Amino acid sequence: MDAPRALAPLDALGILQQDAPNLGSERVELVDALGRVLADDLASLCDHPGVDNSALDGYACRVADTAGAREAAPARLRLVGEAPAGRPYAGRVGPGEAVRIFTGAAVPDGADGIVPVEASREREGGRVELLQPARAADVRRRAQDLADGQVYLHRGRRLDAAAIGLAGGMGHASVPVARRPRVALLTTGDEVVDPGRPLQPGQVYDSNAASLMALGQAAGAAMLLLPRVGDDAAALDRALEQAGSVDLLLTSGGVSMGRYDRVRDLLFGQGAVRFWKVAMKPGGPALYGRLGELPVLGLPGNPVSSMVVFLVLARAFLDAALGRTDPPPYLDRRPARAGTPFRGAALKEGLPRARLTYGEQGLVAAALTNQSSGVLRSMSEADALAVVPAGRDIAPGEAIDVIPLAGHLR
Ligand code: AMP
Ligand code: MG
Repeated sequence: MDAPRALAPLDALGILQQDAPNLGSERVELVDALGRVLADDLASLCDHPGVDNSALDGYACRVADTAGAREAAPARLRLVGEAPAGRPYAGRVGPGEAVRIFTGAAVPDGADGIVPVEASREREGGRVELLQPARAADVRRRAQDLADGQVYLHRGRRLDAAAIGLAGGMGHASVPVARRPRVALLTTGDEVVDPGRPLQPGQVYDSNAASLMALGQAAGAAMLLLPRVGDDAAALDRALEQAGSVDLLLTSGGVSMGRYDRVRDLLFGQGAVRFWKVAMKPGGPALYGRLGELPVLGLPGNPVSSMVVFLVLARAFLDAALGRTDPPPYLDRRPARAGTPFRGAALKEGLPRARLTYGEQGLVAAALTNQSSGVLRSMSEADALAVVPAGRDIAPGEAIDVIPLAGHLR
C-alpha cells in the first residue's frame, strides 16, 4: 500500500470541514435547546422593556419637584396612587405629586424620575417626604435591552444558558436548530473488553468507547455505539453493515502500521482514502476516507490519541455540519507562557497535555510529566493541549498557545 505523506493538521481539518454534510434543521422547545446550534437568525418578537419602567422600589415623580431634596430639607409630595409591577397607574402624575412604584412597574405618564424607597418617609394624610432628588437614570427606557424585529442571536450560535434565556426574553417558545449529526462509533481490538468484567492477562478495558461517546454527545451528535469487533476483517465488514445511514462513522484502533490493523486495510482495500497520517503528536496515524458514500474517520487506539484526534478532526467535521460559527477546538486557542520546557518533535506538531494556572502575566502552561499517548489519566488531569510547532523546543517563559479543554469535554 502506498502511504501518502503526513498531512499538516490544518489541512486535514480543512478536508473534514469540506466533507461535512448539510444536516437540515428542526424545531425544539426552548427547554430542550441546550447545546443545540441555531439554524436561523433569531429576531426579537417584542421590545424589552415594553414600556419605560422603574429599576427600583420607590416613588415616581417629576425630577423638577425634587431639586435639592435632602434629609434636612425633603421634597414634600402628595401621594396619588400606586404602580405595582404588571398593574400600571392609570392617571397622570402632576406637579407636586408622586406615585408609589415597584421594580419593573410602568412609570406613569408625567413622571420622569424615581426616588428609592430607602430615601423616603411616608407621612399621615397621603404625603411623602423624599430625601434625595429623583433620578431619571432609574427609569429603564423602553427597548433599551431589546428592540422588536432586531436580530440578537445569529445562525450558527451554539445555545448556552444565556442564549436560551435571551431567546425566551425575545418571545420564542421554540427555536430552529441544526439536526443532530448521526455518528456511529465502532471500537476494535482483540485485546479490548467491556468494563465491568474481570480482565484476562493482556486485555484492556474499552475506555475509547466511553470517552468517544461522551465527546460525541458533548459535540451535539446523536451517537450510536456499534458492537465492538476484534482484529478480524470479516467481523469488521459485518459490523459496518450495522452502521446503517449515519453522517459519520468513527472507528477506534487498527489504523497504524501493524499487521492486524484491519480498519486501515479495509479503507485502503474497499474505500477511498483521503488521508492517512497527520503530522501531529499524539494522533499521527489518523485515517480519513469514504466507504461508498459514508465518511469514515479512523482514530488511533491509544486512548489519548483517539481523544485528541476527535477534538482536532471529528469536531471540525461535526462543527461544520452543524454550521457552528465559533472556532473548532483546534483553532480555539489562548496565548500563554510556558511554565516548563515543551519539547517539540522533529516533523510533527506537538499537542501535549498541560495544566493551566494564572500568573502575573496571564496564563501559564505546565506540561504534564507523562506524555505517553497510552496514559489516559493525563487527559483527565489536563486543562489544555499546548501547541508546539514541529521542530521547536519551547523554554520556560516563552510564549505558547494553548487549547483549553474544559468547554469541549462536556
Ligand atoms: P491500535 O491503534 O489498535 O494499534 O492500538 C493502540 C493501543 O491502544 C494499544 O495499546 C491498544 O491496546 C489500545 N487500545 C486500542 N483500542 C482501545 C480502546 N477501545 N480502549 C482502550 N485502549 C485501546
Ligand atoms: Mg490494535
